[in-house]
Parts: sequence; C-alpha cells; structure tokens
Amino acid sequence: MTVSKTEHLTIVNVGYRSTNYWVVSAGTSRLLVDLGYPGTMGGMRASLKRMGVPLNEIRYGLATHYHIDHAGLAEELKLAGVPLLVLETQVAAIPLMKQWTKPQDHYVDITLDGNVTISFDDSRPVLERIGIAGEIVSTPGHSDDSVSLLLDDGSVFTGDLPPFPGYDEAGLTLASWRLLREKGAIRVFPAHGPVRPMYAEPEP
Ligand SMILES: [Zn+2]
Repeated sequence: MTVSKTEHLTIVNVGYRSTNYWVVSAGTSRLLVDLGYPGTMGGMRASLKRMGVPLNEIRYGLATHYHIDHAGLAEELKLAGVPLLVLETQVAAIPLMKQWTKPQDHYVDITLDGNVTISFDDSRPVLERIGIAGEIVSTPGHSDDSVSLLLDDGSVFTGDLPPFPGYDEAGLTLASWRLLREKGAIRVFPAHGPVRPMYAEPEP
C-alpha cells in the first residue's frame, strides 16, 4: 500500500519487526531510508518484493543513523548493488556499529568500498540527480550521527529522533525539531510507529 503520493514521488513502507523502512520513489528511481536488521537480507528482499520495489531500482541506501536496526544490512545491500549514501557526520559512527552486534546476529561489517560520502550541502544536488526534490539535514538528539531526509513537500524521515520535542541535556532534540519545522517539515515518517503531523513548537 502506498502511504503517500505527492507530486511525482511515492512513499512506501517496506519495514518489518516494528521498524519502518521507507522507500521514496520518483518513478523507478528509488531511495531506501533505513536499511534493515543484521542477518535479515532474506526478509528485506521478501518485503521489497511484496511492496513492488525491485531491488535493482534502489539508487541509494541511506541510514538515518548507524544503529543496528537502521543500518544492519548496509553492506549486504551494497553487495546486492545498492550504494550506501553516507553523510559527513556519519563516517565515524560506522565502525562503531559492530560493537552492538553478537556473532549470532550475522552482521556483515560495513567497509569503505562503494560508500558515497557527501556533505549536507551536497545532498540536494545528489537527490536531484535521482529525481527527488529535498535535502538531508543533520538532526542530532538520538545520536550525534542522526540525519533526516526532508522532502520539499514537507515529508520528513526522522529515524529515531525522539517523537516528542524532548529536553535532552544539550537541547539537541529540540533544536533538531525546530530546524526541521523552520525548513518546512509538516509530516513525520518515523522509524517506529505511524506517520503523524509535526508537533507544534512546545510551550516553554
Ligand atoms: Zn537508534
């Protein structure tokens, strides 16, 4: 089922195990947002097939951050032909991921091969080349490497950014939500739970 269709972009959820994995498509040019659990490539392939998304049409995989339920299949997707789009703030987090995995998770460690590492300023032209109008924004709060994909229609993919604009000690979460709101976000596609409207600015 297509969750959203605006202009020429479609958004479908290929998630499983209570995690949403979103596919943003401009026709047959597609971006996968969040990249599965370790050891579940068969499940990911089945889910993509069920939702009518050919793996070979995915132009990039983007992890909102490098925790195992968000980037667990990054290397296997690369081996299947899906380049990994890495933002500048995420590079250091990649090698740290394996410490959260156990041997029985069958996690395939992410190498540097085939990673497309870009700055946030580069994100708009990179997305434009695959037919997607939007940008990738640094939105720390859940983790320092957390990013959000913000489409020009106001749809935003926020990963694990805490759903309520909470007051973490450094105020990062609140600042990230505020930035997304200022940039025009109106509809939130989280990594867990249903699609919802943006909350209004919380009362001080
Ligand atoms: Zn996380």
